[in-house]
Amino acid sequence: MTQTDRLLPVNEAIERLERQIRAERRDGALVDPLIVGIHTGGVWVADALHHALDCQEPLGRLNITFYRDDFNTLGLHPQVSPSDLAVDVDGRDIILVDDVLFTGRTVRAAMNELFDYGRPRRIALAVLYQRDGRELPICADWAGQELNLGPDEQIHVDGPDPMTARLVTSKES
Ligand code: 5GP
Ligand code: MG
Repeated sequence: MTQTDRLLPVNEAIERLERQIRAERRDGALVDPLIVGIHTGGVWVADALHHALDCQEPLGRLNITFYRDDFNTLGLHPQVSPSDLAVDVDGRDIILVDDVLFTGRTVRAAMNELFDYGRPRRIALAVLYQRDGRELPICADWAGQELNLGPDEQIHVDGPDPMTARLVTSKES
């Protein structure tokens, strides 16, 4: 098996997410959800899910750079763009979307920012790829694929059109 074969292609991972989310919506556990993507890879995935699930309300975008607990060590990123939540999140069900879940710090920061806008009824997490390495008690409600990576392996995601992903080792990246 080659490195790339270990990774489910992006379109298949998105289809898996779509099926899982539709099933939960049918069961009534998810009511009229708002889809919110985490800048940047999460917004690409969120956009695809927004189309696939026929959501009527606008897609939300979160830029959590300023909320990360390691912000001081990240430095100011030149591409920081503002968050954009057009709809009131109070009492709503939210599907928070990212491309890769790793330590959990990005999702923790995204939830902090969401709570600055209001108090959602439920926040569920959808990620394309859930890798090992969590440092916080956070896990995805739905993952396109779960995988264990070696210490020098990373998922390289490109997009948005088309969105592709491949495994790279730190020597190649
Ligand atoms: P965490 O905050 O959970 O450590 O990392 C998640 C964030 O960092 C996500 O927004 C994701 O875009 C990025 N990230 C972490 N690990 C990877 C990886 O292996 N590949 C890619 N493309 N992004 C990653
Ligand atoms: Mg990211």
